[in-house]
Amino acid sequence: MAAHQEKKPAQERKHKPSQNDTQTSQVQWGRAWEVDWFSLASILFLLLFVMMIVYYFIMSCDQYQCSLTDPLRDLLTGNTHLPDIWNKTPMLTYRAASIYCLWVAFQVFLYMFVPDFCHKFLPGYVGGVQEGAVTPAGVVNKYEINGLQAWIITHVLWFANAYYFHFFSPTIIFDNWIPLLWCANILGYAVSTFAMIKGYFFPTNAKDCKFTGNFFYDYMMGIEFNPRIGKWFDFKLFFNGRPGIVAWTLINLSYAAKQQELYGQVTNSMILVNVLQGIYVLDFFWNEAWYLKTIDICHDHFGWYLGWGDCVWLPYLYTLQGLYLVYHPVQLGTANAVGVLMLGLIGYYIFRATNHQKDLFRRTDGNCRIWGKKAKDIECSIDGTKYYSKLMTSGFWGWARHFNYTGDLLGSLAYCLACGFAHILPYFYIIYMTILLTHRCIRDEHRCSSKYGKDWKLYTAAVPYRLIPGVF
Ligand code: NDP
Repeated sequence: MAAHQEKKPAQERKHKPSQNDTQTSQVQWGRAWEVDWFSLASILFLLLFVMMIVYYFIMSCDQYQCSLTDPLRDLLTGNTHLPDIWNKTPMLTYRAASIYCLWVAFQVFLYMFVPDFCHKFLPGYVGGVQEGAVTPAGVVNKYEINGLQAWIITHVLWFANAYYFHFFSPTIIFDNWIPLLWCANILGYAVSTFAMIKGYFFPTNAKDCKFTGNFFYDYMMGIEFNPRIGKWFDFKLFFNGRPGIVAWTLINLSYAAKQQELYGQVTNSMILVNVLQGIYVLDFFWNEAWYLKTIDICHDHFGWYLGWGDCVWLPYLYTLQGLYLVYHPVQLGTANAVGVLMLGLIGYYIFRATNHQKDLFRRTDGNCRIWGKKAKDIECSIDGTKYYSKLMTSGFWGWARHFNYTGDLLGSLAYCLACGFAHILPYFYIIYMTILLTHRCIRDEHRCSSKYGKDWKLYTAAVPYRLIPGVF
């Protein structure tokens, strides 16, 4: 414990779980009250071009065997023109629209109308009705945690219908991939627009809304903190987890089935991508209740960034490795395959163990053992008030301030390495995750520094590195 703690008599200390302190620190995270020109320019750029980035990646695979440079070269040398590329792009079809509507409706049904039963027979699994963190307006929302169950039911039905009843081909997702992209976009924009209108005219909790007065900023970063329809349909939990993350593993299975259809076999790299990303997805649903306390749910408002991002960005760009492997069926040598597997598992272990250590520490208010020893911490005054929180300096949290991100990045690198080195496209994921998590790390530290003041300095002195001990 820090010497600083001894300056205060014990009876003066009041502890509040720090995820409940969003009232005091909300200012530093998520979205601003006022928009500067740089933020506005960035937002306009993202709104205009991010969809084009997704289209460019998917089109490159469809028309240029996943080469990111060939379309540009053809355009610059006049070998092709934008209308030629567009004319070769599959359009929205009735079939894709039907599949997509059925898919989203089914996920809504599982989310809303099938109460969780997994927690009744899976030891250690936390499901059913759970409470989220306190919002800035002081509201504690209840959530029905049933994502694991939705994932299991969906996958059982997928295998039964694709391989036993033969209602559809297991390649159905790959075969409709670009028409489905238009459907996902329609939903992404529709839900973001609805969230904006709802924020203005019928917010779930008016005190939890933030307005800047700038239309584009409010549209992108969201107005409402936790928009809901009725008591249970929570936009953030539904769109963050389903339909995108449930779809993630199905999309990969469809890619594997396409490899089988095209080449008569599924390569070991495809199996590795399916297994490693499958572990990550299952981990997400197994820990869905814990997820209620992460930054995404605790601090972000719901706008285009989350709504469109969950519908389009996640399912289309997080699955690029499997898509690439359909066009380039990489068969890794045994040593490389084992290396990728080990890196993926080590990354996953670090990611999970680090998150678990913090969760245990916070749940027990620091009265726990980490790696066999009593957890050490630094006690921090919140916003200079009489309220205190604790920052752990034991276990992985003593190695670096965001070692959970480091584990995530190692796992992400493993998915990319499974694809070999012929093209840059499958490496998009690790590049994106590095930018996302480094930026998140800086944003989070900015918020924590403001929240904990001089005590944050004590903590950063005790744990000087952010992601890689001794380096950064
Ligand atoms: P964290 O779980 O790391 O939470 C950060 C918060 O934890 C801080 O704001 C602080 O909050 C508290 N904290 C920081 N240091 C300590 C400490 N030493 N002891 C106790 N509490 C501390 O961040 P995220 O919610 O961003 O990430 C959760 C997981 O999700 C990560 O593993 C990340 O890799 C993953 N992730 C994955 C993404 C993807 O797209 N695949 C995207 C984003 C995240 P407080 O105010 O309570 O003190």
